[in-house]
Amino acid sequence: MKTSDAFPKKATAVIIGGGISGLSIAWHLAKKGMKDIVVLEKSYLGSGATGRCGAGIRQQWSSEANCLMAKKSVEFFEKAQDTLKYDGDIQFKQEGYLIVASDKDEADTFKESVKLQNRLGIPTEILSKKEALKVVPHLNPEAFHSATFCKTDGHLYPFTTLDAFYKASLSEGVKVFTYTEVLAIHKEGDNIHAVVTDKGVIKTSIAINAAGGHAGVIGKMAGIEIPVYSQNREILVTEPVERMQGPMVISFTKNIYCQQTPHGAFIMGRGDDRDAGYSVHSTHAFLDAMAKTVTDLLPPIGNLRVIRQWGGLYNMSPDHQPIISSTPVQGFYVACGFSGHGFMLAPMTGLLLSEIILNEPPSLPIENLSLSRFKGKTYQDVEKNVV
Ligand SMILES: Cc1cc2nc3c(=O)[nH]c(=O)nc-3n(C[C@H](O)[C@H](O)[C@H](O)COP(=O)(O)OP(=O)(O)OC[C@H]3O[C@@H](n4cnc5c(N)ncnc54)[C@H](O)[C@@H]3O)c2cc1C
Repeated sequence: MKTSDAFPKKATAVIIGGGISGLSIAWHLAKKGMKDIVVLEKSYLGSGATGRCGAGIRQQWSSEANCLMAKKSVEFFEKAQDTLKYDGDIQFKQEGYLIVASDKDEADTFKESVKLQNRLGIPTEILSKKEALKVVPHLNPEAFHSATFCKTDGHLYPFTTLDAFYKASLSEGVKVFTYTEVLAIHKEGDNIHAVVTDKGVIKTSIAINAAGGHAGVIGKMAGIEIPVYSQNREILVTEPVERMQGPMVISFTKNIYCQQTPHGAFIMGRGDDRDAGYSVHSTHAFLDAMAKTVTDLLPPIGNLRVIRQWGGLYNMSPDHQPIISSTPVQGFYVACGFSGHGFMLAPMTGLLLSEIILNEPPSLPIENLSLSRFKGKTYQDVEKNVV
């Protein structure tokens, strides 16, 4: 990926973060006619959670905001190759997500989510154990009770998907600077005035915080407290083998997800609860727990060799739904708090934030995505389906 040349002294909008959110926001704004957009990335594009994620795409959520964002994003991904005029392959594989219930109680709670998903037009079905075994025959029948399945869920290749947004943004005139770190944000009164980087100062009245796991830090630079924290989540990939599993398999009880990529490798991760922080180190404890839990549910996985493991940051919000919002500082906007599912929501993140910035009517209800929703409130609509 190339970096544009001359470093600008001013811009209409500065986007902080060269992950999937930052580039989707850049593309949507540029597509709507905004000129002089600059994206700043302190390392290489995709070096944050985007290049470290499982890249699963699912619509089976328990909250309306996540369901709607995911459904609309799937519709975007189905046509993304053409929409973004991309000559590579984003590898959108729609072979579904199978979410297993470990017992009848969990199966009963799934019924509520499925009712919501169906009402919103998401074609999730409830499957008996026998039906689930037809979809994924190598599931251990002793390890689960029943399942839900949505056939239009799936998986993307994160690097080409990011590349598609990047190239589409460049062709709309966006300037992208990698290895450029944002150090401070200057305000004049309550208005954004400039973004300070290690390469120079850019005068602007719009700064957009798409800094993923570091969004809280960028918020503080503008004097805004964003109620998010970051956590290391680990993931691994195996050697490639002959294709044997279509859908992503998830268990909330075991806290795992596991899927086979088109290339044949299995990718899997766990939602171990960790202290808040910025480390993305790998641990033996993860490898051990991952191996035990996944082989209980999917025994043949035990025969595969692990090629690599790594970590990345989940940026958690109090209700596990994203924050896509304006802020009390005029010209300062945030897109963060994705709580482990921001890759799949990126098309709608870009669209909604562009609508907020340009004062257009939002394509989806945005109250449940606003920063102000957390003010002195107990959360009524906490997303439960998070690994
Ligand atoms: C192990 C793992 C598995 C996941 N699996 C899935 C999944 O299956 N499906 C899904 O939808 N989501 C998944 N996620 C979540 C998903 O990866 C994120 O929600 C999404 O990538 C967030 O994208 P982003 O662009 O907002 O943030 P990021 O990709 O983190 O990008 C933010 C960027 O900002 C840059 N930055 C930070 N500070 C500065 C600064 N001061 N100056 C300049 N640049 C800065 C960072 O370097 C980074 O590149 C997973 C995450 C992890 C860690």
